[in-house]
Amino acid sequence: MQTDNKTKFIPLARPDIREEDILLVNEVLRSGMLVQGEFVKKLEESFATYHNVKHAIVVSNGTATLHLALKVLGVGTGDEVIVPAFSYIATANVVELVGATPVFVDIEENSFNIDVAKIEEKISKRTKAIIPVHEFGLACDIESIVLIAAKHNILVIEDAACALGATQNERLVGTYGILGSFSLHPRKSITSGEGGILLTNDDKIAQKLRQLRNHGIEMENGKMNFVEAGFNYRMTDFQAALAWSQFQRLKQTLEYKNQLAEIYFSQIKNSKIKLPFRPGGRNHTWQTFHLLLNGLDQDTVINFLKENGIGTNYGAQCIPGQTFYQKKYSFNAQQAFPNAYHAYTKGLAIPMYEKLTTDDALKISDLINQL
Ligand SMILES: *Cc1c(COP(=O)(O)O)cnc(C)c1O
Repeated sequence: MQTDNKTKFIPLARPDIREEDILLVNEVLRSGMLVQGEFVKKLEESFATYHNVKHAIVVSNGTATLHLALKVLGVGTGDEVIVPAFSYIATANVVELVGATPVFVDIEENSFNIDVAKIEEKISKRTKAIIPVHEFGLACDIESIVLIAAKHNILVIEDAACALGATQNERLVGTYGILGSFSLHPRKSITSGEGGILLTNDDKIAQKLRQLRNHGIEMENGKMNFVEAGFNYRMTDFQAALAWSQFQRLKQTLEYKNQLAEIYFSQIKNSKIKLPFRPGGRNHTWQTFHLLLNGLDQDTVINFLKENGIGTNYGAQCIPGQTFYQKKYSFNAQQAFPNAYHAYTKGLAIPMYEKLTTDDALKISDLINQL
C-alpha cells in the first residue's frame, strides 16, 4: 500500500495536453508568427459561434478580462461593484484596480454561489455593476440577477471563469450580462496556459475592448492611430492554438467530468462529508468538485490525503477575510459573511480533470470514506 501510494501521486489538477494540441502549437511556432494572429481569430470566432454571441475578444488571462470589462464600462473612482464574498480573489481585485469599491454579498451555503436574496440590500446610489460568479462551474441564478440588475439599472459582468459550458435553463452562462468573462488557466476546462475571453453582443464595446487590449491602437487606412491609453493584454498565437485545439473536444471533456462526478456521488458515503449541491435548471461543469467537511479539520484532511497520494486543497477564498480587504475595510468576515467563511474554512477541492481515471476516482472516494 505504502509503495503503491508513492509510485503514483494523484495531483489536485493536471491539464490534458494531447498530441493534436502539440502539433497545432508547433505549427504556429514554425510559422514564426507568434503574437495575436490567425489562431486568436479562430478561437474568437469559434467561441462566439458556440455561445451564439456577436463578439468574442481573446486576451492574456481571466483577470485581464475582468479588468478590461470594468474599464470599458467606465467603472472607476466613486463607484461600487457588487461581488460575492466567496470566489477567486481576482473577482474583487479588479474592482480595486480601477479605483472602485467592492461591496460583498454572502453566498448560499449549498451552491457556493452569490445569495440572490441578499443582493438588493447592498445596492446603493453608487452601485454601477455586479459581477456574479458561476462558482466552481455551477451556473448561479443568473436569470434572477439579470432581473434585479435591470430593475436598479446596474450592469452585469458575468465571471464565468470556471464555467465554460454551464447553463441555466439551457442558455449558456456568459451570454446573460453586458459582458461575459472566461479564463483559460490550466485549472479550467480548456486552457492556453494563461488566457481569457470576453463575450459581448455590443459592437461598440467590442471595438473598444480590441483597442484597449492592444495599446489603444485603431487602424485607419493601414496606419496606426493611438486613440486610448490602452494595455498590452494580447494573447500569443501559439497559446490560442492550444486553446482552440482543446475547445474542439469540449463536449467530451465535460461529459467525462460528469462521469467522474457520478462516481464521487455514488461512492462517497461519509456523514462527515457534504457532497456538492445540484440545483434544478442549472447544470454543473465540475471545474472544481468541492466538498464541505462536517466537523473535520481542513488541514488534517488535506495532510491525510496527501500522505495517501492524493492532492487536495481548499476551494476558493472568503475574500473579505483576506489580509488586504480585512485591513482596508475592517471586516469581521466570519460574522458578516458566515457562509463564505464556512466554505473557505471547511471546503475541500478534490481531483477532477480529464486525466483522472475512473480507478483514481474510486481510490479517492475510498480514502474519503475513511475520514
Ligand atoms: C480562475 C478565475 C479567475 C482568474 O482567471 P485567471 O485566468 O487565472 O486570471 C477569476 N475568477 C474566477 C471565479 C476564477 O475561477
